[in-house]
Amino acid sequence: MKAELQHLIALQNLDTSIRRLQVQIEAIPLRRAEIEAEFDQRAFEIRAEETRRDDARHERARLEKEVAEQKARAERADRNLQASKKQDEYTAAIREADAARKQTSALETQILEQMEIFDKAEAALTERAAEIVSLNSDRDARLAQFDQEMKVQTAQLEAERAERERIFDLLPKPMSSLYNRISLRIRDGIAMAEARNGACAACRMALRPQVMAQVRRGDEVIICDNCNRILYYVPKDSVTTTPPSAREKVATT
Ligand SMILES: [Zn+2]
Repeated sequence: MKAELQHLIALQNLDTSIRRLQVQIEAIPLRRAEIEAEFDQRAFEIRAEETRRDDARHERARLEKEVAEQKARAERADRNLQASKKQDEYTAAIREADAARKQTSALETQILEQMEIFDKAEAALTERAAEIVSLNSDRDARLAQFDQEMKVQTAQLEAERAERERIFDLLPKPMSSLYNRISLRIRDGIAMAEARNGACAACRMALRPQVMAQVRRGDEVIICDNCNRILYYVPKDSVTTTPPSAREKVATT
Protein backbone atom coordinates (compact mmCIF):
# COMPACT_ATOMS: atom_id res chain seq x y z
CA MET A 1 0.00 0.00 0.00
CA LYS A 2 2.75 2.47 0.90
CA ALA A 3 4.31 1.99 -2.52
CA GLU A 4 0.96 2.64 -4.16
CA LEU A 5 0.53 5.85 -2.23
CA GLN A 6 3.97 6.86 -3.43
CA HIS A 7 2.83 6.18 -6.98
CA LEU A 8 -0.26 8.30 -6.41
CA ILE A 9 1.89 11.14 -5.13
CA ALA A 10 4.19 10.81 -8.12
CA LEU A 11 1.14 10.81 -10.38
CA GLN A 12 -0.11 13.97 -8.73
CA ASN A 13 3.25 15.69 -9.18
CA LEU A 14 3.31 14.75 -12.83
CA ASP A 15 -0.24 15.91 -13.42
CA THR A 16 0.50 19.23 -11.80
CA SER A 17 3.61 19.69 -13.90
CA ILE A 18 1.80 18.57 -17.05
CA ARG A 19 -0.96 21.10 -16.48
CA ARG A 20 1.59 23.87 -15.95
CA LEU A 21 3.43 22.91 -19.13
CA GLN A 22 0.18 22.77 -21.09
CA VAL A 23 -0.73 26.28 -20.00
CA GLN A 24 2.69 27.52 -21.12
CA ILE A 25 2.55 25.68 -24.42
CA GLU A 26 -0.96 26.92 -25.17
CA ALA A 27 0.33 30.47 -24.67
CA ILE A 28 3.15 30.04 -27.23
CA PRO A 29 1.48 31.90 -30.13
CA LEU A 30 0.60 34.80 -27.86
CA ARG A 31 4.04 35.01 -26.26
CA ARG A 32 5.74 34.77 -29.64
CA ALA A 33 3.50 37.52 -31.00
CA GLU A 34 4.44 39.68 -28.01
CA ILE A 35 8.14 39.35 -28.80
CA GLU A 36 7.48 40.22 -32.45
CA ALA A 37 5.33 43.19 -31.47
CA GLU A 38 8.06 44.48 -29.19
CA PHE A 39 10.59 44.44 -32.01
CA ASP A 40 8.08 45.86 -34.50
CA GLN A 41 7.53 48.74 -32.11
CA ARG A 42 11.24 49.44 -31.83
CA ALA A 43 11.66 49.29 -35.61
CA PHE A 44 8.69 51.60 -35.98
CA GLU A 45 10.18 54.14 -33.56
CA ILE A 46 13.47 54.09 -35.41
CA ARG A 47 11.77 54.50 -38.79
CA ALA A 48 9.71 57.40 -37.43
CA GLU A 49 12.91 59.08 -36.18
CA GLU A 50 14.59 58.60 -39.56
CA THR A 51 11.57 60.08 -41.30
CA ARG A 52 11.63 63.09 -38.97
CA ARG A 53 15.34 63.62 -39.67
CA ASP A 54 14.97 63.26 -43.46
CA ASP A 55 11.90 65.50 -43.60
CA ALA A 56 13.75 68.17 -41.63
CA ARG A 57 16.70 67.99 -44.03
CA HIS A 58 14.45 68.34 -47.08
CA GLU A 59 12.46 71.12 -45.53
CA ARG A 60 15.64 73.01 -44.64
CA ALA A 61 16.93 72.70 -48.22
CA ARG A 62 13.61 73.99 -49.53
CA LEU A 63 13.65 76.93 -47.11
CA GLU A 64 17.24 77.81 -48.05
CA LYS A 65 16.25 77.97 -51.68
CA GLU A 66 13.45 80.33 -50.73
CA VAL A 67 15.85 82.46 -48.71
CA ALA A 68 18.09 82.76 -51.75
CA GLU A 69 15.10 83.86 -53.80
CA GLN A 70 14.08 86.44 -51.22
CA LYS A 71 17.64 87.77 -51.03
CA ALA A 72 17.72 88.14 -54.78
CA ARG A 73 14.38 89.89 -54.55
CA ALA A 74 15.76 92.30 -51.95
CA GLU A 75 18.82 93.04 -54.09
CA ARG A 76 16.63 93.66 -57.09
CA ALA A 77 14.55 96.05 -55.01
CA ASP A 78 17.71 97.81 -53.82
CA ARG A 79 18.82 98.28 -57.44
CA ASN A 80 15.39 99.62 -58.34
CA LEU A 81 15.65 101.98 -55.42
CA GLN A 82 19.00 103.32 -56.69
CA ALA A 83 17.55 103.74 -60.14
CA SER A 84 14.22 105.16 -59.08
CA LYS A 85 13.45 108.59 -60.44
CA LYS A 86 9.93 109.03 -59.26
CA GLN A 87 8.43 109.04 -55.83
CA ASP A 88 6.10 106.13 -56.49
CA GLU A 89 8.97 104.01 -57.91
CA TYR A 90 11.00 104.86 -54.85
CA THR A 91 8.18 103.96 -52.46
CA ALA A 92 7.46 100.69 -54.28
CA ALA A 93 11.14 99.71 -54.23
CA ILE A 94 11.43 100.39 -50.50
CA ARG A 95 8.27 98.43 -49.82
CA GLU A 96 9.53 95.54 -51.95
CA ALA A 97 12.95 95.44 -50.25
CA ASP A 98 11.30 95.58 -46.86
CA ALA A 99 8.91 92.74 -47.66
CA ALA A 100 11.76 90.59 -48.99
CA ARG A 101 13.84 91.13 -45.84
CA LYS A 102 10.92 90.36 -43.57
CA GLN A 103 10.25 87.19 -45.53
CA THR A 104 13.93 86.22 -45.31
CA SER A 105 13.94 86.69 -41.58
CA ALA A 106 10.83 84.54 -41.17
CA LEU A 107 12.36 81.84 -43.36
CA GLU A 108 15.57 81.88 -41.36
CA THR A 109 13.58 81.29 -38.17
CA GLN A 110 11.95 78.31 -39.85
CA ILE A 111 15.37 77.02 -40.91
CA LEU A 112 16.55 77.15 -37.29
CA GLU A 113 13.47 75.17 -36.27
CA GLN A 114 14.19 72.52 -38.88
CA MET A 115 17.83 72.35 -37.79
CA GLU A 116 16.70 71.74 -34.25
CA ILE A 117 14.36 68.95 -35.35
CA PHE A 118 17.14 67.44 -37.44
CA ASP A 119 19.66 67.55 -34.56
CA LYS A 120 17.20 66.01 -32.13
CA ALA A 121 16.36 63.14 -34.49
CA GLU A 122 20.01 62.64 -35.35
CA ALA A 123 20.95 62.49 -31.66
CA ALA A 124 18.21 59.97 -30.96
CA LEU A 125 19.39 57.84 -33.87
CA THR A 126 23.01 58.07 -32.74
CA GLU A 127 21.97 56.95 -29.30
CA ARG A 128 20.24 53.91 -30.79
CA ALA A 129 22.91 53.24 -33.43
CA ALA A 130 24.00 49.92 -31.92
CA GLU A 131 20.41 48.82 -31.56
CA ILE A 132 19.65 49.76 -35.17
CA VAL A 133 22.55 47.65 -36.42
CA SER A 134 21.56 44.61 -34.40
CA LEU A 135 17.78 44.94 -34.30
CA ASN A 136 17.05 42.28 -36.89
CA SER A 137 19.62 39.82 -35.58
CA ASP A 138 18.45 40.48 -32.00
CA ARG A 139 14.91 39.72 -33.06
CA ASP A 140 15.94 36.50 -34.77
CA ALA A 141 18.08 35.45 -31.81
CA ARG A 142 15.33 36.19 -29.33
CA LEU A 143 12.75 34.25 -31.33
CA ALA A 144 15.16 31.35 -31.85
CA GLN A 145 15.82 31.25 -28.12
CA PHE A 146 12.10 31.30 -27.42
CA ASP A 147 11.47 28.51 -29.93
CA GLN A 148 14.25 26.47 -28.36
CA GLU A 149 12.77 26.90 -24.88
CA MET A 150 9.38 25.87 -26.17
CA LYS A 151 10.89 22.83 -27.86
CA VAL A 152 12.41 21.80 -24.54
CA GLN A 153 9.09 22.30 -22.77
CA THR A 154 7.22 20.36 -25.42
CA ALA A 155 9.69 17.50 -25.11
CA GLN A 156 9.37 17.65 -21.34
CA LEU A 157 5.60 17.49 -21.63
CA GLU A 158 5.83 14.40 -23.83
CA ALA A 159 8.23 12.74 -21.41
CA GLU A 160 6.03 13.52 -18.44
CA ARG A 161 2.97 12.21 -20.21
CA ALA A 162 4.77 8.95 -20.92
CA GLU A 163 5.95 8.75 -17.32
CA ARG A 164 2.43 9.45 -16.10
CA GLU A 165 1.11 6.60 -18.21
CA ARG A 166 3.80 4.28 -16.87
CA ILE A 167 3.00 5.08 -13.23
CA PHE A 168 -0.73 5.00 -13.87
CA ASP A 169 -0.38 1.45 -15.19
CA LEU A 170 1.56 0.40 -12.08
CA LEU A 171 -1.46 1.16 -9.91
CA PRO A 172 -4.24 -1.34 -9.26
CA LYS A 173 -7.22 -0.51 -11.41
CA PRO A 174 -9.58 0.60 -8.60
CA MET A 175 -6.96 2.96 -7.27
CA SER A 176 -6.11 4.55 -10.60
CA SER A 177 -9.81 4.95 -11.37
CA LEU A 178 -10.37 6.53 -7.98
CA TYR A 179 -7.51 8.95 -8.63
CA ASN A 180 -8.90 9.89 -12.03
CA ARG A 181 -12.40 10.31 -10.70
CA ILE A 182 -11.26 12.64 -7.94
CA SER A 183 -8.90 14.71 -10.08
CA LEU A 184 -11.58 15.19 -12.73
CA ARG A 185 -14.15 16.26 -10.15
CA ILE A 186 -11.92 18.68 -8.29
CA ARG A 187 -11.57 22.08 -9.87
CA ASP A 188 -7.79 22.34 -9.54
CA GLY A 189 -7.36 18.70 -10.58
CA ILE A 190 -5.35 17.90 -7.47
CA ALA A 191 -6.58 14.60 -6.08
CA MET A 192 -3.95 14.23 -3.36
CA ALA A 193 -3.75 16.17 -0.13
CA GLU A 194 -1.14 16.02 2.57
CA ALA A 195 -2.32 15.39 6.09
CA ARG A 196 -0.29 17.79 8.15
CA ASN A 197 -0.54 19.13 11.69
CA GLY A 198 -3.78 17.24 12.20
CA ALA A 199 -5.53 18.76 9.19
CA CYS A 200 -6.01 18.27 5.47
CA ALA A 201 -3.52 20.64 3.85
CA ALA A 202 -5.77 21.16 0.83
CA CYS A 203 -9.02 22.20 2.52
CA ARG A 204 -7.71 22.96 6.04
CA MET A 205 -10.34 20.68 7.58
CA ALA A 206 -9.21 19.22 10.92
CA LEU A 207 -8.78 15.44 10.86
CA ARG A 208 -9.79 13.23 13.73
CA PRO A 209 -6.85 11.63 15.53
CA GLN A 210 -7.89 8.13 14.34
CA VAL A 211 -7.99 9.33 10.75
CA MET A 212 -4.63 11.00 11.19
CA ALA A 213 -3.23 7.73 12.57
CA GLN A 214 -4.68 5.74 9.66
CA VAL A 215 -3.18 8.14 7.16
CA ARG A 216 0.15 7.96 8.93
CA ARG A 217 0.12 4.16 8.75
CA GLY A 218 -0.62 4.33 5.05
CA ASP A 219 -2.18 0.86 4.88
CA GLU A 220 -5.31 1.95 3.06
CA VAL A 221 -6.69 4.77 1.01
CA ILE A 222 -8.13 7.42 3.29
CA ILE A 223 -10.17 10.20 1.80
CA CYS A 224 -10.74 13.62 3.32
CA ASP A 225 -14.39 13.84 4.42
CA ASN A 226 -14.55 17.45 3.43
CA CYS A 227 -12.77 17.79 0.07
CA ASN A 228 -12.70 14.12 -0.97
CA ARG A 229 -9.01 14.11 -1.76
CA ILE A 230 -6.77 11.13 -1.06
CA LEU A 231 -4.78 11.87 2.07
CA TYR A 232 -1.13 11.04 2.50
CA TYR A 233 1.41 11.61 5.19
CA VAL A 234 4.96 12.84 4.81
CA PRO A 235 7.19 11.90 7.77
CA LYS A 236 8.74 14.96 9.37
CA ASP A 237 12.33 13.94 8.63
CA SER A 238 11.71 13.30 4.95
CA VAL A 239 11.73 16.17 2.56
CA THR A 240 12.22 14.39 -0.73
CA THR A 241 8.73 12.93 -1.05
CA THR A 242 6.88 16.15 -0.30
CA PRO A 243 5.10 17.01 -3.50
CA PRO A 244 4.70 20.69 -4.20
CA SER A 245 1.33 19.97 -5.79
CA ALA A 246 -0.58 19.66 -2.55
CA ARG A 247 0.94 22.83 -1.17
CA GLU A 248 0.75 25.29 -3.98
CA LYS A 249 -2.22 25.52 -6.25
CA VAL A 250 -1.69 25.14 -9.95
CA ALA A 251 -1.35 28.35 -11.80
CA THR A 252 -4.00 28.20 -14.46
CA THR A 253 -3.69 31.76 -15.56
ZN1 LIG B 1 -9.57 18.04 2.54
